[in-house]
Amino acid sequence: MAGRTTFRLDESDLPTRWYNIVPDLPKPPPPPLHPGTREPITPDDLAPLFPRALIEQEATQDRYVPIPDEVAEVYRLWRPSPLIRARRLERELGTPARIYYKYEGVSPVGSHKTNTAVPQAYYNAAEGVGLLTTETGAGQWGSALAFASAQFGLDCEVWQVRASYDQKPYRKIMMETFGATVHASPSELTESGRAVLARTPDSTGSLGIAISEAVEMAAGNPNARYALGSVLNHVLMHQTVIGEEALAQMAMAGDTPDLIVGCTGGGSNFGGLVFPFLREKLAGGPQPEIRAVEPAACPSLTRGVYTYDFGDTAGLTPLLKMHTLGHAFIPDPIHAGGLRYHGMSPLLSHIVDLGLVEAVSVPQNECFAAGIRFARAEGVIPAPEPSHALAECVREALRCRDSGEEKVILTALCGHALLDLPAYATYLSGDMTDRLLSDDEIRLAMASVPEAAG
Ligand SMILES: *Cc1c(COP(=O)(O)O)cnc(C)c1O
Repeated sequence: MAGRTTFRLDESDLPTRWYNIVPDLPKPPPPPLHPGTREPITPDDLAPLFPRALIEQEATQDRYVPIPDEVAEVYRLWRPSPLIRARRLERELGTPARIYYKYEGVSPVGSHKTNTAVPQAYYNAAEGVGLLTTETGAGQWGSALAFASAQFGLDCEVWQVRASYDQKPYRKIMMETFGATVHASPSELTESGRAVLARTPDSTGSLGIAISEAVEMAAGNPNARYALGSVLNHVLMHQTVIGEEALAQMAMAGDTPDLIVGCTGGGSNFGGLVFPFLREKLAGGPQPEIRAVEPAACPSLTRGVYTYDFGDTAGLTPLLKMHTLGHAFIPDPIHAGGLRYHGMSPLLSHIVDLGLVEAVSVPQNECFAAGIRFARAEGVIPAPEPSHALAECVREALRCRDSGEEKVILTALCGHALLDLPAYATYLSGDMTDRLLSDDEIRLAMASVPEAAG
């Protein structure tokens, strides 16, 4: 198959089940704790926020969970997604490395988020929920949930981080087109939002604050539930359709990845791509290096602490053991809104702690430089988030150029930037800034972490 560029599966090859990595790990991940009792939370604790089916998936020990027909039917609008060999980028970099990207920008909203939005909306609708509340950073998750809510007849209310709300007006229009209601966060509509605005009236917001607002609204309305676009076990599990397809497509290409690279905000596109490959690695199959890439401005894996912390700013969520910068940490308003989260998926954090995944951070100017290089070679303008993964691919490909190594690199291009073009305008005009985050700032935010919970 010399010269082949795209590797496409047939609709009939759509995965029929999601993969749950938990039972395959050498040690189980530490459980979420109730903030009052410090005991593991029970399904009843979560019932006001999530439907029963998702609470079950969150804790399941089953290796596989079947994808309901109703979900598969919506997935078929864009899945299976293509795997593409970045031959033009390889040529431009003069590298002997072979670079493949799994492209999730073909979804209705242009990112991987629909892979979990659709099942989340489905299970909520099936259990009679009428309204979903959520937060959104870049607007990718809000658009995905708005789309999925429309598919299953649910109302959807979204708190969008103020920085993104102002930087990315088209996302709001997309959410409203799908029928959702959008509020800038922090808002005056919730206690959590009002508390932040009282302290910092010009707050640019954060995912942590927006989560507090959406959780508060769902908890106060018996007809509503809350949906999270990343971080939780069931979200990462839904995303494994990416990696299951990529495994089959790499086999079509006749290549095996030596290195798998992905960007991490809450860990879902990364987990989704990587977990099926990690399953094979743990079972004694191919042994790729696996590398997470995060922004230098929000470096939870590389500079945070692995400890119990809240998932939101107001402290309304269970305590999650994860790599965290402290729930009071407010990252600079970098353009990769989806990566502006103080914490990390507890499951991925555990896997990093076990030494199965390594992490690096990259400043945003380098990411946009890589994004532009990629766009000029491949024709896809990558979202600011996966441009972090691409920056690491470029670093690695250039190392291969110098060493002559024919490394096979696989990455998730988890979204395109067609609604994030103002970020590229800022970069192209030379006005994009990178500020070095000081140890003192992190220490200060870490003071918000509750006393030793285990
Ligand atoms: C939300 C988002 C991210 C960050 O979330 P993860 O859970 O880490 O994947 C990254 N890229 C895109 C395009 C996103 O929409």
